[in-house]
Amino acid sequence: MASVLVVNSGSSSFKYQLIDSESERMLATGLVERIGEAQGRAVHTVVASDGAEEKSERELPIADHTAGFAVMLDAIADLGPSLETHPVIAVGHRVVQGGARFFEPTVITDLVRINIDELSSLAPLHNPANLEGIVAAQKAFPGVPHVAVFDTAFHQTLPPAAYTYAIDAELAAKHRVRRYGFHGTSHRFVSHAAAEFLGRDVGDINQIVLHLGNGASACAVAGGRSVETSMGMTPLEGLVMGTRSGDIDPAVLLHLQRRAKLSIDEVDDLLNKRSGLLGLSGRGDMRDVVDASLDGDADAALALDVYVHRLRGYVGNYFAQLGRVDAVVFTAGVGENSPVIRARALEGLESFGIRIDAERNEARSRAARVISTDDSTVAVLVVPTNEELEIARQTLAVTRA
Ligand code: ADP
Repeated sequence: MASVLVVNSGSSSFKYQLIDSESERMLATGLVERIGEAQGRAVHTVVASDGAEEKSERELPIADHTAGFAVMLDAIADLGPSLETHPVIAVGHRVVQGGARFFEPTVITDLVRINIDELSSLAPLHNPANLEGIVAAQKAFPGVPHVAVFDTAFHQTLPPAAYTYAIDAELAAKHRVRRYGFHGTSHRFVSHAAAEFLGRDVGDINQIVLHLGNGASACAVAGGRSVETSMGMTPLEGLVMGTRSGDIDPAVLLHLQRRAKLSIDEVDDLLNKRSGLLGLSGRGDMRDVVDASLDGDADAALALDVYVHRLRGYVGNYFAQLGRVDAVVFTAGVGENSPVIRARALEGLESFGIRIDAERNEARSRAARVISTDDSTVAVLVVPTNEELEIARQTLAVTRA
C-alpha cells in the first residue's frame, strides 16, 4: 500500500497530503507554518479509512523548510500513517510558474531545478518558495522521484491568439511577456471530473470552468484542452478576486504613479493585496461580503455587482470563443458553496441554453452535482476541485511511464 506525498510550499509555510496510490484515499494532511519566525506551528491530521480524523498540533521554532520536513516526519511517526505500511514512492510538488518550457508534469532533476529557479523572474513570490520546498523534501525523501506539477502546464495548449499581448513583439519576447494562465491543475481535474460525471468523453465536449476561490479564474476547455483562460502573465488578470483587482485599464497604474505618487511596490501591493472584494467593501472573504450585503451594506452590494458583472462577461466571452458549450462548471470555495453567486452569474442566460434549477442550486452537498434543469441545453454543474489528488495522479503517471 504505497503512498504519494503532495507538497505545496510557500515562503514561510508548506501544506502537504499523503495519498494512497491505489485507493486515492487521503491518509493524512498537514500544515507547517511560520517557518523562520520565533515560534513555528505544525498541524498534522490523520484520516482513518472510516473518515475519522485525529489531529495533533505543535508549536516550536522551525528554522527553515528542512527543519519543517523533520517536524512533519516526527508528526507522522507519532500519529501515523505508518510509512512502513504506506511507503512514500513519489513526491509531487506544486510549482506555480512553468513558463513556456514546462507543458507536463516533470521529474525534478538538477536541470529542472535550475529552470524553475530561472522562471522566478516571472513569479518572484512563488517559484523561489516552491523551490525551497523541493530542496527540503528531496533531503527528507532522497530515494524517490520528485515531480513538479505546474499551475501553468494545462494552459500551454492556448493558441497564440489567446496568449499574445498586443504590445511590441520584440520587447515581449525578450522578457517572456505573454499570457500563461494559472489554476491549471484545478481546471484539468475539474474538466475531467465533469466529463466523467456527465458520462461523456472529455475529448468530445466543450466546457467553461469557473474556479472561484480567493484567487479566481475562468477557463474555456475544448475537448479537454485549455483554449482560453482569464489569468495572464501573472494571476492578477481576469476575474475580480478576494484581494486582486483582475482586469483593469493598464493606464490606471500610470495615472496612480503620476498623480497619487504611488511607487511600483505600492501599486503591486494595491492591485494584488488591497483590491478586489477587499478594496471595494473592506472584506476579502466572499461569505462576509454576501452577509454584509444582506445586512444592507451598499459597498458590499456593489462589490458583488462588480464581481458578478465581470464573471458573466467571461462566460459570454467563452461562449463566443467555444461556439458550442456543453457544460458550465463551478468549483472552489465560492463556486462550490455559494448558490447566490452561481445563480446571479448565469441569470437571464436562457437564450444561451442555460436554465438553473433553483432547488438543485440551493441543495448542499460535497459531491459533484447538476444544478441546471432537465431541459437546459447546457448542463450547469458544481464539481469540487481536488488539486492535491490531481498532483498525486500526475506524479504517479510520470513515475510509472
Ligand atoms: P483558495 O483560493 O485560498 O484555495 P477557496 O477555494 O477555499 O480558497 O475559496 C475561499 C473563498 O470561498 C472565500 O472567499 C470564502 O468566503 C468562499 N466561501 C466558502 N464558503 C462559502 C459560502 N458558503 N458562501 C460564499 N462563499 C464561500
